[in-house]
Amino acid sequence: MTGHVAVVTGGSRGIGRAVVERLHADGARVLTCGRGPRPDHLPADVAWVQADVADPADAARIVATASAELGPVSLLVNNAGVLVTSTVEDSTDDDWDRLVGTNCRGVFNLCRAVLPDMTEHGGVIVNIGSISGVVADASSALYNASKAFVHALTRSIAVDHGPRVRCNAVLPGWIETDMADEGFAIADDPVAARHDALARHPVGRFGTPGDIANIVAWLASDEASFATGQLFTVDGGLTAGS
Ligand code: NDP
Repeated sequence: MTGHVAVVTGGSRGIGRAVVERLHADGARVLTCGRGPRPDHLPADVAWVQADVADPADAARIVATASAELGPVSLLVNNAGVLVTSTVEDSTDDDWDRLVGTNCRGVFNLCRAVLPDMTEHGGVIVNIGSISGVVADASSALYNASKAFVHALTRSIAVDHGPRVRCNAVLPGWIETDMADEGFAIADDPVAARHDALARHPVGRFGTPGDIANIVAWLASDEASFATGQLFTVDGGLTAGS
């Protein structure tokens, strides 16, 4: 990763934190962001911007700060995301604004902010989608749809901005984070729901944030130079069949 200037959104915890740590350990200069203050666990030389990716001005500020402090952004990992658990019928206007704001507009904002530089100098975008954007999770209608948006945007960027920019999406399955806990919490019996979900994983375990960081690092590297416009599922075999 030496030579990469990376922006990773949502690096305060979960998958984003693991991606930040992996890219930093591999030699990238990294900036990350979240809506709260700088987390204590961040390595000292990882830059932090307190920002909401749903706000276009904040997105522009994230990219401008990275360029000024670290150099032109060559790698963008759109990881920040929120989960709203509701059916279409039960979704409120606020649910829509929150979910579409972060999961769709946030991804769009950051891509739009980095593309002028990337189109000139070259770059890589990795968007975090979800298997939920392909196989619907119950009671997560807006979330599922938001991830399908991310998948389609990924393909469009690859088509419109190649060969200078490669753009792929990673589609995680159940990864042990705060968000996964939120997902199980809506079940009548969260413990039984966890047990049932685990039984449907051929690898016999849920994923770790590091499992996703590994494939992000590979997609960012030159080893993946022939991969663009694709959706890479990493779900322990959950969607392979039963
Ligand atoms: P977490 O809830 O653990 O972390 C989400 C991160 O995103 C936090 O750092 C949060 O920081 C940040 N964030 C959320 N909204 C915003 C915003 N508007 N602006 C800036 N930062 C924001 O989630 P995960 O690590 O589990 O999820 C990461 C990504 O992976 C998401 O896109 C999610 O949809 C996807 N995913 C996760 C799966 C899982 O099983 N965990 C499965 C499939 C996909 P803060 O709250 O401080 O702003």
